[in-house]
Amino acid sequence: MAHVAFIGLGTMGIAMARNIIEGGHSVVGFDTNAKAVAAHIANGGESASSPAAAADGARIVITMLPTGDVVKSVLLDDTGILETLEPDTLVIDMSTINPSETDAIRATLSAQSIRMIDAPVGRTSRHAITGELLIMAGGESKDIEEARPVLECMGDSVVNCGGPGMGSRIKVINNLMSTVLNVLTAEVLTLAEATGLDRDMAVDVMNGTTAGRGHLSTTYPNKVLKNDLSPDFMIDLARKDLGIAIDVSKELGVPLALASEAEAMYAEAHNKNRGAEDWTALYAMLRDKYL
Ligand code: NAD
Repeated sequence: MAHVAFIGLGTMGIAMARNIIEGGHSVVGFDTNAKAVAAHIANGGESASSPAAAADGARIVITMLPTGDVVKSVLLDDTGILETLEPDTLVIDMSTINPSETDAIRATLSAQSIRMIDAPVGRTSRHAITGELLIMAGGESKDIEEARPVLECMGDSVVNCGGPGMGSRIKVINNLMSTVLNVLTAEVLTLAEATGLDRDMAVDVMNGTTAGRGHLSTTYPNKVLKNDLSPDFMIDLARKDLGIAIDVSKELGVPLALASEAEAMYAEAHNKNRGAEDWTALYAMLRDKYL
């Protein structure tokens, strides 16, 4: 049983702390919001009057806070927490923050011999409640293993992301994909309705194709990720289909913000003589350009 300090008992943190308590650990919580602290106590947790008081004697200190600035102010500014932490304390920041902020926080803690794991979470607040988060852990492997029993109270999947800062980095990449796909999904369904399609039918159809299943689990593994650019579906044909959709959107007066950017990339691939390659060769083109 570990003594855990948990700072930030909001939408996510309150459920994550409760799952650690249910895992048999003692959790001293701190939040600037008194209602959040009261909920934590009702869940069987203890409370403290400051981050430093919560961290006093803790083997693990978890932060689940809104932004990097708040994480820095709690861990590094004058809350007194740095003076409280024992040299072998493990700090686990589970907030979503910029990786460069993660690196800066780690460097400051490390100068005081305090270890850190960056461990942001995937999935939603529903999964926080059920203890089924996907936890993206960055840090020394032995520290991640030490933290694993506590992390597994909160998530059903704890991924060692490959070194310090890599949890923070994969979280940004993951959320780039999900946030932009959200925009595309909203645009596509709006256009579907504008054409007169039944929305449920459209959702069913797209859930049966690459559109809904996603390139990462369908086209990419068989083609560009194997360095095979022979066309299962040619760039130029994909570009033609995108052009039809853009034409339809213009006819119906439903502008598509992402589609014209996408068209520019297909055009670039065509102009670089990649038009007959597989449509996943867009990735190969960008790697050639930037890596
Ligand atoms: P939230 O705003 O509900 O909770 C943040 C908590 O931090 C609040 O209770 C707030 O009072 C507290 N807080 C703010 N400043 C503080 C301080 N100085 N000291 C102590 N407590 C302080 O946010 P959330 O939805 O729980 O998200 C937390 C983090 O997790 C964010 O970085 C978010 O991006 C990330 N995240 C959220 C979700 C989600 O579905 N909500 C999913 C994955 C990741």
